[in-house]
Amino acid sequence: MPVPYKLPTYALMIKYIFGPVPSRRLGISLGVDIIPYKTCTLDCLYCECGSTSELTLERKRFVDPGVVLEQIKEAIEGEKYIDYITFSGAGEPTLSIDIGEIITRIKGMTDIPVAVLTNGTLLYLEEVRRDLAPADLVLPSLDAVTPAVFNKINHPHKELDIHRIIQGLIDFRKEYRGKIWLEIFIAKSINDTPDELNKIYETAKKINPDKVQLNSLDRPPAYEGVEAVDIETLERLVKEWKDLQVEITTRTKRREEIVSFSKNLENNILNTIKRRPLTVEDLEALTGKSRGELFKYIDILEKEKKVKAQVNGDKIFYAPVRK
Ligand code: SF4
Repeated sequence: MPVPYKLPTYALMIKYIFGPVPSRRLGISLGVDIIPYKTCTLDCLYCECGSTSELTLERKRFVDPGVVLEQIKEAIEGEKYIDYITFSGAGEPTLSIDIGEIITRIKGMTDIPVAVLTNGTLLYLEEVRRDLAPADLVLPSLDAVTPAVFNKINHPHKELDIHRIIQGLIDFRKEYRGKIWLEIFIAKSINDTPDELNKIYETAKKINPDKVQLNSLDRPPAYEGVEAVDIETLERLVKEWKDLQVEITTRTKRREEIVSFSKNLENNILNTIKRRPLTVEDLEALTGKSRGELFKYIDILEKEKKVKAQVNGDKIFYAPVRK
C-alpha cells in the first residue's frame, strides 16, 4: 500500500540530480541522489563523503518520486553524452522505499541505462532485490568477509551481519537479470592480509558477478590513517584471481564535448564538489572548460572560503567548506 507523503515543503525545492559527472567506473554519469546527507547503513573508513551522521537500517520515504523524475527528465533533455543515470551520492540509495518505483519510471522515460551504486548491505531483503530488478547495472561493494575486518573497515550498523549480507548478494545474483559489478576496496593494513584477500576471492566466486573492480584510496577519506595499497598489490590480485574478470578502476578520460547541466559555471562547480571532492581534471571533463578558466573560479571561491583544496597523494582535490 502506498505510503502517504509527509515530506516538508522544502523537499520539493531540493536538487536531486547532479552532473553529468565523469565517473571512473561509469563514463559520463548523471547522478541521482535521493538520500539525505549522510544517511547510510555503514560508516566506512574510506568514505569520500565524510563520516555517517545517520547510521540506520530503516527504509523510508525521503523524496517525492514525481519531483525526482521531473528533474531527471529536465536534465536529460538536450544532453548528448550520458552513459548512465546513476543512483549514488552521499548515502545508501536502497534505504529509499521509492527507489524501485523511480527506476521503473526512468526505464519508461528513456533508453539511457540505469545504474545503482549500493553498499549491498540490504540485498538480504527480498523487497530490496525486487526494487533493483529493473536496473541495468548494479554495483555493490564487498570489502571484507570476516566480521572483525568488516567492523574495522565498514563500521556497520550493529544489526548487520556480514554472512547475511553475502547471502543477499548470492541470492541477488541468482534472481537478477542485469549486470553486477562488484567493487572491492582494499586498504593497507586493514583488509589486505593474504587470509582476508583469499576469503574475499572465494566469496566473490560464489557471488559470481559479471566483473570485479578493485579500488583503493585516491580521494580524501572520512577518517585519518587510511592508506591506499600500492598498485602492485592490485595488479597481483588481477593475475591471481583468475576465475573472475577483475579490473582496477582508473580515472575517466576527458570527453571533449560534454555539455554541463548547469548554465552557471560557478554554481555548477559548487554543486558538483558538494557531492564529492574533485580534481581540476575532473572539473575540466565535466564542464568542458579549460583549466585556466576553471582556476579563475576556484581562486575566487577559495578567497570567499566556499572551496578548499585538499592534497591526497599526488593529487589536489577541491571540496566545499562546510559551515
Ligand atoms: S562509502 Fe558508501 S557505504 Fe560506505 S559510508 Fe560512504 S556512502 Fe556509506
